[in-house]
Amino acid sequence: MLSSPLIVLILFLTIGTSVCYEKSYANHQVWRLHITNNEQIAKISAFSHIAHLHDINFWSEHFRIDEPVDVRVPPAAVDSFAEFLTSDGVKIEYVVHMGDVGAIIENQKIVQNLTRLLSNTNDFAYDKYHTLEEIQAWIDQMVSTYSELATLFTVGKSYENRDIIGFKISSKKMATKLDGTKTAMKKAVWWDGGIHAREWISPATVIYIAYTFLSKYGQDPTITHLVDQFDFYILPVFNVDGYVYTWTKDRLWRKTRSKTSVPTCFGADPNRNWDYHWCENGASHDPCSDTFCGGKAFSEIEVSQVAKYIADQQGAIVHYINFHSYSQLWMSPWGWTAARPAQYKLQDDGSVVAINALAALYGTKYGHGSIAEIIYVSSGSSADWTYGTANVTFSYGVELRDTGEYGFLLPENQIIPTGQETLAGLIALVQYIEKHVYA
Ligand SMILES: [Zn+2]
Repeated sequence: MLSSPLIVLILFLTIGTSVCYEKSYANHQVWRLHITNNEQIAKISAFSHIAHLHDINFWSEHFRIDEPVDVRVPPAAVDSFAEFLTSDGVKIEYVVHMGDVGAIIENQKIVQNLTRLLSNTNDFAYDKYHTLEEIQAWIDQMVSTYSELATLFTVGKSYENRDIIGFKISSKKMATKLDGTKTAMKKAVWWDGGIHAREWISPATVIYIAYTFLSKYGQDPTITHLVDQFDFYILPVFNVDGYVYTWTKDRLWRKTRSKTSVPTCFGADPNRNWDYHWCENGASHDPCSDTFCGGKAFSEIEVSQVAKYIADQQGAIVHYINFHSYSQLWMSPWGWTAARPAQYKLQDDGSVVAINALAALYGTKYGHGSIAEIIYVSSGSSADWTYGTANVTFSYGVELRDTGEYGFLLPENQIIPTGQETLAGLIALVQYIEKHVYA
């Protein structure tokens, strides 16, 4: 007879693998396309707008010569997509990069469930991915444990009526200008994670970094100094509805979960929905597309409320990062045009400072430049709005690990190293920003 813990374990794993994910990716493949010329880019860009009609989904957001393009292909589309890639006289070479996405998802879920079951502590594990419920409980815990430093803030409610919450880290001390005088005009930083639901490393990294700032204040002189110089707004999960959906229905969901004009298609891309050159380029008006810009600018209640919260800080925020994965890129405005803003060098030099400090830890290499130059012209993104409308000079979009080996399915054993190296990059970047804003 089976002992009762084993029965519980088997039941748990059975439930975990059969019920949690409604959308099955069994035998879905990820292909890596090799792009060598502009004709191929034109062909694949054009196709990317209709790919959803075949349940084909581009994991890569940028199509550039000699850079891999990853695309998920369902079993039913394998033959036709292969034929398409070799048709029209413009042949695109590819390799099957992942043979069975569904198997990877299921295996990760089994390991996650097993380690949770065998863990005999209720402490928040920083080397694990967490549900929204766990993350919100963690936020409450941080605010009560570090009550001298952290205060809860509520951005508002999501489309499905969930709380969008974060916390502000503030030592409540006056900042010191470079000449040694004190100033009550303290500047602030905003870091948010999880705007795209499936990019799980993003909330996990924001959480790791926020915890380090809280727990090292008063112990680590560098962090103590930065927390005395800046207030830090931390929003671990921006797109709360989408994030819950990736845990319960579809691990690879990206968008929000609002209703659209098409009854079978849900959500808009919250990083194409901001009211700054909204939906001019590099975004779709098709509600079924993964880059759907929404029915209008700020149609998504999550986006409009975060924007309002940032605007309400009335210029205090001088640095913004919208964390994504994957590709290892540190990007500054603009996204909407390939033209560079007047402060491009100031912003991009910050990116270089960050990625050099980041690489010094484990050798992880990041690219840098403007969003339009690095990915493609894509309007309505967060960093364009925070810079263009809210005047946040040091606005960035950051794509965390990896470069596609696991893509959105980055294993949990990379959470801590990603957190550590990103922390090194952020400390260097905030030190760089400090020199400019307190001059
Ligand atoms: Zn993203």
